Amino acid sequence: MRDRAKLVIIGGGVSGLGTAYHLAKSGFTDIVLIERGYFGSGATGRCGGGIRQQFSEEYNIILARESVRMFEKMSEELNQDIGFRQGGYLILAHTEEEAEHLRENVRLQNSLDVPSRYMDPSEALDIVPHLNIEGLSAAAYCPTDGVSQPFLVVKGYVDTLKKMGVELHDHTEVKGIKVENGEIKKVITDKGDIETNMVLNAAGAWSAKIAEMAGVEMPNKPYRHEILATEHMKPWLRPMIISFHTGIYFSQSHDGEIVGGIGDPDEPSSFRIDSSLEFLERFASVAVRYIPVMKKLKVLRQWAGLYDVTPDARPILGPVDELPGLIQANGYSGHGFMIHPMVTKLLAEYIIDGKTSIDIEPLNLRRFKTGEIIQEANVVG
Ligand SMILES: Cc1cc2nc3c(=O)[nH]c(=O)nc-3n(C[C@H](O)[C@H](O)[C@H](O)COP(=O)(O)OP(=O)(O)OC[C@H]3O[C@@H](n4cnc5c(N)ncnc54)[C@H](O)[C@@H]3O)c2cc1C
Repeated sequence: MRDRAKLVIIGGGVSGLGTAYHLAKSGFTDIVLIERGYFGSGATGRCGGGIRQQFSEEYNIILARESVRMFEKMSEELNQDIGFRQGGYLILAHTEEEAEHLRENVRLQNSLDVPSRYMDPSEALDIVPHLNIEGLSAAAYCPTDGVSQPFLVVKGYVDTLKKMGVELHDHTEVKGIKVENGEIKKVITDKGDIETNMVLNAAGAWSAKIAEMAGVEMPNKPYRHEILATEHMKPWLRPMIISFHTGIYFSQSHDGEIVGGIGDPDEPSSFRIDSSLEFLERFASVAVRYIPVMKKLKVLRQWAGLYDVTPDARPILGPVDELPGLIQANGYSGHGFMIHPMVTKLLAEYIIDGKTSIDIEPLNLRRFKTGEIIQEANVVG
């Protein structure tokens, strides 16, 4: 391992790998990327791979819209099929208030060039004929939303970065960050130290711990999120179905299995990633309420990962005021995979030029001190 680099990236998920890729593409290769486990072993390799633009907050919509445009070209760009499929996202509302929110969100999304549409529950049957619409008040559908396979994206980045000559170290843990007089001096790992003045904190749910090593406090909190995959079936479900009312989401993968999760509003913050029977029961009862024919479907696997949650469900991006060499690339809550292409491009622009083509200032860590917080409402808790 090199003992000096212009930039050390901590975290080998989509956030760290994507930023390294965009930097290297622009000729910035004086990078060492450190990953404690295998690449994608954090939230990235545990995620559902869902990609949607139907948010309630402008920044998330723009970042997701631009990212979809990048996902459309990613297989070719990385010379790796990333399993990207645009079957849309169908959002289901239960109450009149939720229907009104959907209508407002669709208006905002359309004004930002996202082709979502608001519909009555009966129209949703044209998209998912097996849907039980009893008790639903409205739906929204965006045909350009979709899914991709996180491990294939990780593989695409890792193979490409290696070819580009970027130094990547898996199974290597960052143990400390030495700071002197408001400047980063070195990153300490279990395989040796690397002198550097710049660190990208892309450590997902562990980002607050990394920041703490440099004396910086962050509001991010880790939350377990459980997910499952069923036996395989012939294709019958094109979109991802999601409801913020029940917290469920599920889609049919390219291989035919149903992959889905359900949020638990009572889940306390922790680093636990064990699986539970309660999750299976909750998921099954809600999924069958929407699609009764799924009743006999067998679950083959279940696992869990960590959401890296911020108080406003928006990411934390860019430098820290009191330590400008520490650049944040974290706090993606439950939607980091889908927005990572554009976010990591912007972070690379910032690292190279000190400015970005889309303003990321409102997503700076300082917003939690100044109180300039806009809440994202369209999230699974
Ligand atoms: C069950 C589940 C389902 C999800 N579904 C979706 C979805 O459908 N769509 C979507 O967009 N998002 C989804 N997400 C969220 C998404 O997975 C994350 O937002 C995204 O993967 C974050 O990527 P990351 O690179 O920031 O973090 P991670 O992938 O967690 O990467 C951080 C890495 O840092 C490493 N690390 C931590 N500490 C150290 C250290 N001290 N030294 C070295 N390395 C360290 C970790 O090992 C880890 O690999 C889901 C998440 C979960 C858990």
